[in-house]
Amino acid sequence: MSGKMYTASIEMVEVSPRDGLQNERTIVSTAHKLGLIERAIESGVRRIEVTSFVNPRAVPQMADAEEVCAGLPQRGDVTFIGLVMNARGADRAIATGRIDQLGAVAVATDTFAMANQGQTSDGSVEAAQDIIRRAKDAGLTAQATIGASFGCPFEGEVAEDRVVAMAEAIAEAGPIEIALADTIGVGNPVHVERLVTRVRETIAPLPVRVHFHNTRGTGLANVWAAIGAGASIVDASIGGLGGCPFAPGAAGNVATEDVAYMLERAGISTGLDLDSLIATNRWLAGVMDKQLPAMVGKAGGFPRPETERKEELA
Ligand code: ZN
Repeated sequence: MSGKMYTASIEMVEVSPRDGLQNERTIVSTAHKLGLIERAIESGVRRIEVTSFVNPRAVPQMADAEEVCAGLPQRGDVTFIGLVMNARGADRAIATGRIDQLGAVAVATDTFAMANQGQTSDGSVEAAQDIIRRAKDAGLTAQATIGASFGCPFEGEVAEDRVVAMAEAIAEAGPIEIALADTIGVGNPVHVERLVTRVRETIAPLPVRVHFHNTRGTGLANVWAAIGAGASIVDASIGGLGGCPFAPGAAGNVATEDVAYMLERAGISTGLDLDSLIATNRWLAGVMDKQLPAMVGKAGGFPRPETERKEELA
């Protein structure tokens, strides 16, 4: 029996400053957000969703989008992503002069699309296409995420044909990739493998990115299934913070340190430094004044340095 061949490396996108924080009640200061971004970059992150340009009344945590952008480090080797829902958000992000890439969002069901961004699912596809075109006209790159790809908090099961058709329509606008998001954490590995495969085959040569929430404990299994099906980019959030303000019961993203631990131990390079991520977890737990959901953030990596092993035996 021959072993399955896995990819040598995966690109990680850090989403903690946006998806990680947006559902937190405690408003995090701009300085702490910039501290998180700088620590993530020190840990090896080279693509990072820094904020979203949405109505501050709807998402108060993101009200300082322009201030965050003004404080971003000058790094030619890091791609800063701004999440936007419409033309106005795109214009705001472009006007900062610091955002390299726009992230658009289309939602697979009408009810969730109305709750999330006040438009139908078809309307959200058109908005994503418009955002991608605006980004390209401004000399930026763009990508799009299909929210509720694996299930909807309001409508339940989501037809895979619908998600595939949305990906095909969005791909025509020329994004660099399309992501499938399990916004409410209801996906399972078999579903993930099937849908990632279908979308990958539909939009090739565009790559598939995946975005999982660990609401029901299937997050890491879904990451592994997605990679096996050919997804090449994975979203994650340091500490496993995260959630959607418009999705009832949504919980955190898969934790960056948990994904990095699993993949690096499996021989798949992420470009991330695990000890540095764990140190950032501790720092962020202090900022948020609570323990964060990440498992590896609590347990540490393996094998441990010899000095620490001796301490454990003592
Ligand atoms: Zn999310």
